[in-house]
Amino acid sequence: MIPIYQIPISNLKGVGPKSAERLHHLGLHRLWDCLFYLPYTYQDRRSIRPIDTLENEEEVLIEGELGAIRSIRKKTEIHIADLHDATGSIALQFFNFKPTNLFKLPQGTRIQCFGRIKKMQSKYFMAHPKTCVVEEDKSLVTKEWAPIYPSTAGLDARRLQQWIQDAVQQSLNASKLEWLPTEILHEYQLPTLDEALLAIHLKPDPLILKNKNHPCLTRIKLEELLAHLISWRSQTEALQQPRRHAIKNNTAKALADFSTQYPLVAQTLKTLPFELTSGQQRALVDIFMDFSESRVMNRLIQGDVGSGKTWVAVLAAIAIASQGDQVAFMVPTEILARQHAQNIRQILGQLNIQVEVLVGALSKNERRPIEQRIANGQCQLVIGTHALFQEAIEFSQLKLVIVDEQHRFGVAQRTALVAKGPGHVHRLMMTATPIPRTLAQTLYADLDTSIIDTMPLGRVPIQTLALPSDRRDELAHRLKNLCAQNQQVYWVCSLIEQSDSMQQQAVDQIGEWLNENVHEFRIGIIHGRLKSEEKQNIMQDFAAEEISILVATSVIEVGVHAPKATLMVIENAERWGLAQLHQIRGRIGRSNLASYCVLLYETPLSPLAEYRIRLLRSCHDGFKLAEQDLLLRGPGELSGQRQSGFNVFKCVELQNDYHLIHDAQCILDSLDQLLAKAVFDTTTKPIGTRWFHNSVSQAV
Ligand code: ADP
Ligand code: MG
Repeated sequence: MIPIYQIPISNLKGVGPKSAERLHHLGLHRLWDCLFYLPYTYQDRRSIRPIDTLENEEEVLIEGELGAIRSIRKKTEIHIADLHDATGSIALQFFNFKPTNLFKLPQGTRIQCFGRIKKMQSKYFMAHPKTCVVEEDKSLVTKEWAPIYPSTAGLDARRLQQWIQDAVQQSLNASKLEWLPTEILHEYQLPTLDEALLAIHLKPDPLILKNKNHPCLTRIKLEELLAHLISWRSQTEALQQPRRHAIKNNTAKALADFSTQYPLVAQTLKTLPFELTSGQQRALVDIFMDFSESRVMNRLIQGDVGSGKTWVAVLAAIAIASQGDQVAFMVPTEILARQHAQNIRQILGQLNIQVEVLVGALSKNERRPIEQRIANGQCQLVIGTHALFQEAIEFSQLKLVIVDEQHRFGVAQRTALVAKGPGHVHRLMMTATPIPRTLAQTLYADLDTSIIDTMPLGRVPIQTLALPSDRRDELAHRLKNLCAQNQQVYWVCSLIEQSDSMQQQAVDQIGEWLNENVHEFRIGIIHGRLKSEEKQNIMQDFAAEEISILVATSVIEVGVHAPKATLMVIENAERWGLAQLHQIRGRIGRSNLASYCVLLYETPLSPLAEYRIRLLRSCHDGFKLAEQDLLLRGPGELSGQRQSGFNVFKCVELQNDYHLIHDAQCILDSLDQLLAKAVFDTTTKPIGTRWFHNSVSQAV
């Protein structure tokens, strides 16, 4: 037997293939989709009203005998049919439209009409009523208020209502749907799911749609949010378990074993000024185990900003390079490419591994010798931007492709680079932004993941503050103090989406303000319009602590290493994504100095923006913030593959309901026990989860 939540909508009585298709257009594929399909209004057709009791603007059902029919022409053509009952008469009006069926009926036919009353000088009118000829089993009268659902062309509203009500009734009959414990329902003063569905679809209380915070609606919306949260959490849990490798109890020992196989790796580990964190070690062991198998590696490393993904990748590169093969390291910006190279060269030079940088800004003459060294195998590690695959670059022996900040690259770009190898090219991708599993699976089918859930020791947590932008002046004093102590400041101005010239305008403005207010310190300005050499010089000066304040666009998101930078100011913070802000914020707090992030925002803040800023202040967990991004903006946004129009929610309206997200999280946290069971046990699984999984698999 098909479980109730999988029964297709075509099983409903009266739904044929054509209607089924139209229902699919509305997102109604299974019976359970109907539970979350909300009416937009309720009509009171419970009784027939005598005409002489009608009030202006009332929506009512009337019944009477058809009288005279006529058409008049004013500005537009108006077709009128009179209708009268024992108490009075009313004119049914049709503007620019002649209801031929109605007008063919003989006078005296009994019909029912539903519509809005206009009362003018004690005369009654009803424009474009819904009509029905009264026959034995045909009537517009309903026992309850009638829910009206958004429909689509070719789908009769009354049949749609019938089907949805049937679907809801069947689901309610099949089993009890509520799964939340009574204490929680009491605590939040909510009806059960069954009660809520009954009240919304079958026995409506007209107040429900008048009040967006009606408890019945709240219960449904919470179900939707809980479903999203549960799916998301179970995805991240699944992601945290490496699929192929048994978790090693003793990672350090496993790493030591591999190091005998890769002596240059062992040597590097000794040279590094720090010990790898346990998360880094685990990721590295995962990678080396992949290498030791005959299969090609396809691994994603997820780790919060600053968790030290770069060295994991570099150590993997060293292992490959030490066997005479080549590695391509793809990063999203030139600045990052050069900085990686600079940091890496010092150590790799001693190992006799040759590193080259290949970026779009190189001239032909600069590029040619580099290309040659790549082609004839004189260089083992190439760090570059998308220039790596766009150009006619040939590798002699490409064996590993590393993609840093993978969400910045499209699938096509990653594939193009792998195609440059002779066949088995390992892929290692790194991201600070977790991707929902459903999306990950469609983007890259056989992806293994390692999670770095540890932070290097000794980091002082960043304090985040929010300030309306008209109080910017208050920052001047703080800037001076900091710079006087030889600390540095990032000032981030604009979003990636803006054009280069708009970005330049934004940074120039701040530059001016700084020149007026803190002129005693050196200020650097960086934006997309500068030549790469100029950018390069400014970044270098900043890294060398010759520049105190760096005004920049979001290019620094994936940026540079400047441990003395302890203040980050972000303009228009209300407009950025949470994960992105978190990533940018990760540029500071990279030493044992106390660090501050100031979010400047434009007033007035929308409630949603305020909520996001509050979150960012209180939460420093990249995964949690990504979860929120998923909730607030949808998975497309998160993966960097903007899928416009992918609306995650059916019932929840974020502008109004954002506070429910918090409630849903609290409920889940208090449900931990039950949840563990619910996620894996299909009998107790919350209905929303099952519904959600179905609809996501439809949508992706
Ligand atoms: P991300 O994961 O954001 O790419 P990075 O690889 O840029 O992080 O590392 C951030 C900083 O932390 C770098 O300066 C790096 O040298 C340093 N780092 C990396 N691993 C450790 C560690 N185990 N202990 C201390 N510092 C580390
Ligand atoms: Mg990084």
